[in-house]
Amino acid sequence: AAKQHGRARGCRFRSEMNERVAYRVALESGLRGALDRGEFTLAYQPKQDVASGRLTGFEALLRWHGPLGPVQPAEFVPVLEDTGLILPVGAWVIRSVCAQVRAWRDAGMPPVPVAVNLSARQFQQEDLVDAILAAARDAGIAPGALEFELTETMLMSDPAVSEGILLRLKAAGIGLSIDDFGTGYSSLSYLKRFPLDALKIDRAFVRDLPEDSEDLAITRAVIALAHSLGLRVIAEGVEDAAQLASLRANGCDEIQGYLYGEPLPAEACLAIFAGRAVEQTVA
Ligand code: C2E
Ligand code: MG
Ligand code: MG
Ligand code: MG
Repeated sequence: AAKQHGRARGCRFRSEMNERVAYRVALESGLRGALDRGEFTLAYQPKQDVASGRLTGFEALLRWHGPLGPVQPAEFVPVLEDTGLILPVGAWVIRSVCAQVRAWRDAGMPPVPVAVNLSARQFQQEDLVDAILAAARDAGIAPGALEFELTETMLMSDPAVSEGILLRLKAAGIGLSIDDFGTGYSSLSYLKRFPLDALKIDRAFVRDLPEDSEDLAITRAVIALAHSLGLRVIAEGVEDAAQLASLRANGCDEIQGYLYGEPLPAEACLAIFAGRAVEQTVA
């Protein structure tokens, strides 16, 4: 009986694995034509200044609705990265954000910067900076209307090369932040050297605030570190007033999360934020 049971379990395990493999194959084949079929869109999530309550900018987040229905970025972005599709898709994201900034400005949206997430593969591309500057120029916007979010892992894999790329982006007036801070590995000496503007505290450390004393200690430490390096701090995934109160008490500069606003289609952002007071303006 024990043996039969074991075999049944083995079968179930194997069929789950087969299902996962089949799903992964379906994701990959769906993603191959997704760009040409126009299945990607962008959602924009606002960021808020803690002290003034004002809008400080948006983050562009990729959405895919294809033959498999809507799929989360956490599932499909890694597949885009593994297959190299992140290069054309990432280029589309950059160009689309530039066009959106142009359209928003033309429609009277407050001039706040829009942040784009970059992946490691894009960061290794020789012509990344040129492509970014060309996209801004073609859309008729200042490069300073853009920000980029990078991860620790991606910056630290070849810090000397990273520094060169960051310096070129910075020289163009582009804002730079480290995303998901605290989940990767950073060299403090490079954190100091890189021309960064902000650290984004990962949602994992914000979720259980203010009750979790370790998360509280971590957020305090990150805020102190960032401020001592002259960087702003943005907390990700802020969902309720108690989290906000805790972050405010500890000197966090900006928040992003469902409390202030979910990622929304561009038109909805325009309706909500047009004419609102903004914290900082860019060219
Ligand atoms: P991220 O850059 O750290 O983005 C924040 C994620 O947290 C987003 O998930 C956002 O929808 C979610 N979020 C925001 N506020 C809250 C909140 O209050 N509560 C909760 N539970 N979640 C919140 P999303 O859109 O699913 O994106 C996941 C990740 O996929 C992003 O993490 C980013 O690493 C990646 N990603 C998204 N768009 C792009 C893109 O255009 N290019 C690249 N390379 N990666 C992207
Ligand atoms: Mg991000
Ligand atoms: Mg993040
Ligand atoms: Mg992330």
